Amino acid sequence: MRIAVLALQGAFIEHEMMLERLGAETFEVRKYADWFQQKDALIIPGGESTTMGKILRDEQLLEPIRTAIKEGLPVMGTCAGMILLAKNAAEANGTESGNTRLATMDISVKRNAYGRQLGSFETTAAFKGLGEIPMTFIRAPYIEATHGDAETLATVDGRIVAARQGKQLACAFHPELTESTCLHEYFLSMI
Ligand code: GLN
Repeated sequence: MRIAVLALQGAFIEHEMMLERLGAETFEVRKYADWFQQKDALIIPGGESTTMGKILRDEQLLEPIRTAIKEGLPVMGTCAGMILLAKNAAEANGTESGNTRLATMDISVKRNAYGRQLGSFETTAAFKGLGEIPMTFIRAPYIEATHGDAETLATVDGRIVAARQGKQLACAFHPELTESTCLHEYFLSMI
């Protein structure tokens, strides 16, 4: 399996290492031309969603990636990556977030939603089909609501932190920063 990893910014190397541990091949997408290689899936890492959104737009990558996801390319977005997938995103203070996103997934998210003190923490929580898994949150968003056929896969303290819609998987935490490979295995099994 050959997985594209969006490598504009943020925690992409950790995803590559985890996928390679699981026997998948990876390549980095930084520029328009990188995108058109053969691939079975895409990972959008954590980082800063506004920065990544602007680079995606400036590199002319928003449109081809959006089209591929709509046509069924499996995608996993973690943290900032989840924000980029969300159709609706709000800032911590409730104002609407900019629209430089892929906006392919029927979820409403809130950025930096835990506030400064609580924004980064580790916990374990139940993930549908996987049991209890470790979760690392860094200035994390959460999902305020899922819509349509988007399904909640995990909650922490009553807040939705992971969801799936078809071949799209989004999580508010960083599975690539824990020892557990189970979420990446779950994603590979979706492909
Ligand atoms: N706070 C970041 C954002 O809003 C997300 C943080 C992360 O990806 N760890 O884009």
